[in-house]
Amino acid sequence: MVVHDFTESFIESVIEHGDLTRYEACFPELFEHYFAFYGPRRTYPEGLTTDAVRGLRDRVTAELSAIESRFARANLDLNQLEVVLFVGQNSSNGHAFLHKGRFIVWLPVEEYPSPLSVRVFVPHEIAHALHYEMSSDYWFCDAKSRNHMGRQLVAEGLATLVSMEIAGVDAITALWVDYVSSEWASEWINNRRRRRCELADHALNRFDESSEDNGFFVFTGTNDNDVFRNRTGYFLGTEIAKTVKDELGGTLADLLKLSRADWESLAKDVLQRMKASWQDT
Ligand SMILES: [Zn+2]
Repeated sequence: MVVHDFTESFIESVIEHGDLTRYEACFPELFEHYFAFYGPRRTYPEGLTTDAVRGLRDRVTAELSAIESRFARANLDLNQLEVVLFVGQNSSNGHAFLHKGRFIVWLPVEEYPSPLSVRVFVPHEIAHALHYEMSSDYWFCDAKSRNHMGRQLVAEGLATLVSMEIAGVDAITALWVDYVSSEWASEWINNRRRRRCELADHALNRFDESSEDNGFFVFTGTNDNDVFRNRTGYFLGTEIAKTVKDELGGTLADLLKLSRADWESLAKDVLQRMKASWQDT
């Protein structure tokens, strides 16, 4: 892994001089991507001290070499992978973006409140970079291609499956780590398991659509009990990825390399069977 640390730029430019423009100039292409898809400009977390930023940064860097070793044991080589650490706007755990022909992983350090969040979510974001690198049809260039239901189900399900295997955790931990109480997370997943046939029907009907209201994939709050919103797409995507892995076998690399056309027909097949189990009962 090649790590680029821009947290010191945040400390110097934003904390010490209040100069956001100077901070964003440290990697303009990253901020252009980040503001286009993930965060409103100029709302950095308030009250972050130099020590707090360094503490957050050090929490992430402390785990990186162990994470790289776990990927190596799964025959996924991260030697050339570039990772950017920076302070973002409390809006996303990270993702990957295309820069000079390579997919770079970006990680906003303020989104990692515990060592467990690093051990689970960093492999998830790394998985996105590996997936785009091996199957570039999954990369998005605008809101329409990003929000494509079928693309998001497979990309997020696969990244969650990779994090489960790399971190050695179950689906519920891979999806929520310790961001919410374990009681709330259990209820969240049980509600979706109970309604999985309806959810599969919903996803199938919209598989090739791009919704502006991305509630199927975004966190809409612990008070939102609507099973068709609040990260439900991650639950369904994970079910799809786990089923495909169980039935197809193969390594994580094999799954990451599968073409988008193959994934889409496999995903639709899994969803059809989920839906049919409802009609049978
Ligand atoms: Zn993701």
